[in-house]
Amino acid sequence: MRPWRHRGWRRRTGLLALGVLEGRAADEARAHVDGCARCAEERAALRQALELAALDPVRTAEPPLGMPALLARVNARLDAAAAARSPLAWRPAWLLPAGALAASLAVLLLLRPPHPPSTTRSTPAVVAPAQVAVPEDVLGRMERTVTRAQTARYLDEAQDLLLTVAAPRPCARQSRRVDMEQEAERSRELLARRALLVGTSGQDVASARPVLRDVEYVLREVASLPSCARERDLQAIQREVSRRNLLMKIDLMTRELKG
Ligand SMILES: [Zn+2]
Repeated sequence: MRPWRHRGWRRRTGLLALGVLEGRAADEARAHVDGCARCAEERAALRQALELAALDPVRTAEPPLGMPALLARVNARLDAAAAARSPLAWRPAWLLPAGALAASLAVLLLLRPPHPPSTTRSTPAVVAPAQVAVPEDVLGRMERTVTRAQTARYLDEAQDLLLTVAAPRPCARQSRRVDMEQEAERSRELLARRALLVGTSGQDVASARPVLRDVEYVLREVASLPSCARERDLQAIQREVSRRNLLMKIDLMTRELKG
């Protein structure tokens, strides 16, 4: 695989490993990975990290791909390993939220059995696990992939919610009111998810920040509605959504994030 052919596929390789690609996009990504050694290696590394995290029995109680939860568990496993006096040199600063995923993957990958570089044919040297370096750019790319996938998913769900808000049901208990109970609840859930999104303060999704701010503003408005809301309060929110061109902006942004 020529480098220029490979470049555009790296992000999709990560998304493939995370199981967020579907249909033709997944088929195409798989076809690329099958013919590209670099992508195959990245996919294997990411899968291994995810499998390690999945060993936690708590995971079975979670919906598939709860990334913030998964991340928390990876860090918990690392903490547990540290408490068990792992021979690895620990740098607690790695576990700060901004680099949490890269740090987790770094440590998980360090636990992999070392293998000699494919380009050398000399006798494999004995390499201590701590010396098996995973290139910084590979880890950075993995973290970027997860951040972008998380953000796209959050925006997708926020868009679904805003579409529901655009077509409200009448409230059964009061006339001239609309039933916003589920929507308000869902908004609160999404706002909680927003708070857990990793890496959105960094450069990985810098272009998405204005949209994220707009979405957050509107979700707060919906979350504050009573279960039987006044029509004019809802209409004010709908006007705000359309004034900000929010549905279109979310559309464009999720498309960009999904690459
Ligand atoms: Zn590739």
